[in-house]
Amino acid sequence: MTRSSLRAAFFWGERMETTEIGCINCGMRCQMEILHDGDTIHEIRWNNCPRGEQYAISQMGLPNRIMEVPLKVTNGAYQYVRAVTVDPIAEVSKGGLFRQLREVDMKAPLRKGQIVSLLGVRFRILENVTTK
Ligand code: SF4
Repeated sequence: MTRSSLRAAFFWGERMETTEIGCINCGMRCQMEILHDGDTIHEIRWNNCPRGEQYAISQMGLPNRIMEVPLKVTNGAYQYVRAVTVDPIAEVSKGGLFRQLREVDMKAPLRKGQIVSLLGVRFRILENVTTK
């Protein structure tokens, strides 16, 4: 069964709507929160596996997505840095973008909040990475 309700939330300093959806794909029945704004999903929380995320996307029926991705760092203290898209990405094109990003190498140092442009998409870096 899917139960949905709306409430306000704040995300990156902006007011978002939150919809609660219960995943029905297994007995755990994860109760997920989907943060969204207009036609864009910003974040899916509390799913315990990727099937929940896919279920939430199908139930919401929104075409765009703010995506968090790992970016490879070649000379950094960490091998990957988390980043989030600044602008919405079409849900249908995110798989291709993920594949292309695997070929991209970032150079340290990187600082939290820094905006970088990769493959024509702007990303906000989510953590500091120093050089080795
Ligand atoms: S998110 Fe995964 S673990 Fe949670 S109910 Fe759905 S299928 Fe089960």
